[in-house]
Amino acid sequence: MIVGERKPFNEIRAMLEGYKKVLILGCGTCVSVCMAGGQKEVSLLASQLRMDARLRKTEMVLGENTIQRQCDREYIEPIVEQAGNYDVVLSMACGAGVQLLAEMLTPLPVVPALNTTFLAVADREGTWLERCRGCGNCILADTGGICPVARCAKSLFNGPCGGSKEGKCEVSLDIPCAWQLIYDRLSDLGQLSQMEIIQPIRDWRPSDSGAPRSIVREDAIGVSGEKA
Ligand code: SF4
Ligand code: SF4
Repeated sequence: MIVGERKPFNEIRAMLEGYKKVLILGCGTCVSVCMAGGQKEVSLLASQLRMDARLRKTEMVLGENTIQRQCDREYIEPIVEQAGNYDVVLSMACGAGVQLLAEMLTPLPVVPALNTTFLAVADREGTWLERCRGCGNCILADTGGICPVARCAKSLFNGPCGGSKEGKCEVSLDIPCAWQLIYDRLSDLGQLSQMEIIQPIRDWRPSDSGAPRSIVREDAIGVSGEKA
């Protein structure tokens, strides 16, 4: 899932400076699951902003809503009219959701309440761990299902580096060396010979290091019954 975390309250307040009517809009998918921008978090932030406005003796009208996904036009369309009653929308979605919302609600300003962080798995309760950087060319089949892009501090494709010590990364003793994990997993799978394969120099063009990426699936066009 995409994981995000709420910006510090003072930063949110500064973004709303000068606006009297604010719609706080949550997103019911990834950021709800990671407890950063769902219905509950919308309600908590609204209470905090209301209390703050009262203490500062300023006027602020706060609306609350949460839609299924802010990264999907069909879920935004039904709230366009409601949003028109406000001066600004405070989006609690990931950066993709904020941008689609801003595009669809123009000229209404849309500001982000979250910092979007990474693609993660849920670990223990309240803990999310980065597992994928969306590199566009997955090599998990060669690495025992452990991602060297996201989990090695240097994103090495032929590791480990000289800093790996007793299974830990040289960056921090709290971080396992990804290449130790890969070695151990390949060993468990009986595929240690994979370690001898030298990965060629990586073509990073499918990754996020170039222009914005897009996917067009011809077979998916028109399946919803919508006309182009
Ligand atoms: S190799 Fe690329 S696509 Fe696969 S998990 Fe790692 S970052 Fe994600
Ligand atoms: S110690 Fe391991 S995880 Fe850390 S940078 Fe070196 S190879 Fe990568």
